[in-house]
Amino acid sequence: MEKTLATLAGPPYKARDVKFKLPDFIDIVLNAGDARDPHGATIGQSLPNWGKVAEKGGRTVAMTNINTDVDSRKAKDAQLSSLVCAPALAKAGDSIKASVLNVVLHEAAHNLGPSHEYKVKGKEDDQLFGGPLASTMEELKAETAALYFTEWLAEKNLVSRAEADAATVHYLSWAFGHISRGMYTADDKPRNYSQLASIQLATLVKAGAVTFKADEKAANGTDLGCFDVDFAKWKPAVDTLAKRVLMAKAKGDKQDAEAMVAEFVDAKDEWAKRRELITERWLRAPKGTFVYAVK
Ligand SMILES: [Zn+2]
Repeated sequence: MEKTLATLAGPPYKARDVKFKLPDFIDIVLNAGDARDPHGATIGQSLPNWGKVAEKGGRTVAMTNINTDVDSRKAKDAQLSSLVCAPALAKAGDSIKASVLNVVLHEAAHNLGPSHEYKVKGKEDDQLFGGPLASTMEELKAETAALYFTEWLAEKNLVSRAEADAATVHYLSWAFGHISRGMYTADDKPRNYSQLASIQLATLVKAGAVTFKADEKAANGTDLGCFDVDFAKWKPAVDTLAKRVLMAKAKGDKQDAEAMVAEFVDAKDEWAKRRELITERWLRAPKGTFVYAVK
């Protein structure tokens, strides 16, 4: 995986010697302290698999029981079916499995390719891109690599075609959810995940891998206009995006990073209107808080 990303990134990045341990898959029974958010919860975390932390035993973890309760799943199904067309929803498959696959690949990818500590001409990513943009780029790398590796695993027959397609549909709901939170916080700080989701989805739309069918009813049968996936165009579009993102990270190319934000986040265009539609439909469902219990 490291070699694959290094090839996409190109020079001056060189593949590192990285090791990968199978993540821990855990069911959360209590979130406490800083881990207790008012809404939502951390679904995956990764510590570096190189350097001092790794010598003590670097770990990746995926939380496997977040949003898997009946109410959360019902809400998620209603949200997704208000935005995607019926043919895309038909490929949704097992959303829990698809979610875990995405989380594991995303977290693993933080440890692969040009990461936070990688230096170009002696500068780390904070200095190259500026703090908030550096975080957006690192998250964009991780999530784009997750999409890339899903197809890579399917090619190796390590996940089935149906599982990869289910992961694609699940990814859409992940992206819609982040987009619905808005691109900036109330005090005008960029929301990293929202912005990366917008960059990805807008790129996929531009490449024709995701299409908006204005005259077609969404899978719920009521909302007019829905997103569909052209699965034949999906992999080439993801490959192109992965190459662009990894090259920008490898070269510390702030200009290209800013160009992506300008075109796919800040532009007041058709895509900005689509994001409003996504937000309106996604926010219909109430956000749940979690109460944990041990049976
Ligand atoms: Zn991440």
